[in-house]
Amino acid sequence: MTGGGRGDRRTLSRTTWVGASPAWAEFRAPASPAISSPALAWPPSSLAWLPVRPFAARGGCCPTIVSRRQWGARPPRSRVPLRTPVPYVIIHHTTGNRCTSQASCSREVKGIQNYHMNTQRWSDIGYNFLIGEDGRVYEGRGWKTMGAHAKKWNHKSLGFSFLGNFSNRIPSAAALNAAKSLIQCAISRGFLKRSYTVTGHRNVNPTSCPGNALYRVISKWPRFKAKP
Ligand SMILES: [Zn+2]
Repeated sequence: MTGGGRGDRRTLSRTTWVGASPAWAEFRAPASPAISSPALAWPPSSLAWLPVRPFAARGGCCPTIVSRRQWGARPPRSRVPLRTPVPYVIIHHTTGNRCTSQASCSREVKGIQNYHMNTQRWSDIGYNFLIGEDGRVYEGRGWKTMGAHAKKWNHKSLGFSFLGNFSNRIPSAAALNAAKSLIQCAISRGFLKRSYTVTGHRNVNPTSCPGNALYRVISKWPRFKAKP
């Protein structure tokens, strides 16, 4: 995630979003009706597999979020509150392994937390949320805690990181839809300003993150800015 990226950043930054793409329109489709399946009535436990399908929650359209307890997080060493609503969403990729199930993505997230806490000596996993190609979102520091994902920007942004390496391929449609849904969820729950800007990690720090392929995708999203 270091070096590179700066050269082609200028060219890529010229990309301007000009209208609703089919992918975005698809995402904005109304959520399916709330499911009254017995599965949802179970007390949440790390053993309960969560449905991938987004469902209406608290008036907004939120993706399935796997809680820290559900993926087996270690407790943070400390927490700094994030002042919300923040004006920015910063997109990352983890450069780790691809994962397409709750079990494999949970293992990935645990590995990243261990790396951030043991090797980087951070207080917790750096990102606010992580997005799996299983279409689920994994809670990192969450909505209310300042992340450690983009130097000088942590206090005014939410850091969303796609699990995997997206230099040469784009994330699954399920992952991209989950990310878009997470942005709407953040607004509806009051953690992100309606007038938010979405940008890539490479646009605020010298890094190739979130990978060229993923960067090309997010640069077409509404409210993307290459120079935030
Ligand atoms: Zn990054």
